[in-house]
Amino acid sequence: MTKARIVVVEDEEDIRELLEYVLTREGFAVTSVSDGRKGLAEVRKQLPDLVLLDLMLPGMDGLEVCSQLKQDEDTREVAVVMLTAKGEESDIVVGLRLGADDYVTKPFSSKELVARLQAVIRRTSTAPSQEDQTIQHGPIRIDPNRHQAWSGDESLDLTATEFKILHHLARQPGRVFTRDQILSAARGDQAVATDRSVDAHIRTIRKKLGDNRAMIETIHAVGYRLKET
Ligand code: CA
Repeated sequence: MTKARIVVVEDEEDIRELLEYVLTREGFAVTSVSDGRKGLAEVRKQLPDLVLLDLMLPGMDGLEVCSQLKQDEDTREVAVVMLTAKGEESDIVVGLRLGADDYVTKPFSSKELVARLQAVIRRTSTAPSQEDQTIQHGPIRIDPNRHQAWSGDESLDLTATEFKILHHLARQPGRVFTRDQILSAARGDQAVATDRSVDAHIRTIRKKLGDNRAMIETIHAVGYRLKET
């Protein structure tokens, strides 16, 4: 198996060296750079599997790097995991909207970091399930053609909006979606979640999931995701 390639963009030397050490030890092929512009250039050159991107960077900040990568057809398939500090939740939300695949908050444990990166690489190397394909994820099953969902053996009585939300989350289990992204998916347009309607829908879906309610996880100040099983 070829090694998955990761570009690390981090300006703090201690953290950069730690990341290089940990990720190399775990079998990744790692290149690291210390500023945003160099990071962007390195990703364009290598087209790695993943870029681990600090947000506060000299040269060009991480959100701008992410935005440029996701807007460019050549680089948009490269997975982006943001490396964030505590209290940067609003930046995390912006980053996810720009197309970042996940984030890891500093300080992180090496074990958790590696698990998250492996999950993202796994997820992004397999295309999301087709719109009309039946999805089975843990106890949850969704048949878009019949517009029907089940929690275990139990058929769920979901409204059209609830169904769309659950379907959207289930197409990419483990991926965090912001409230805006969930609402847009449910309404099929660029909706702005100025209200708490998404929370209300999620609450109802959880209630209907019964014993499997914990399958939908709340990510504080960021959004929701379907639990990876
Ligand atoms: Ca930094």
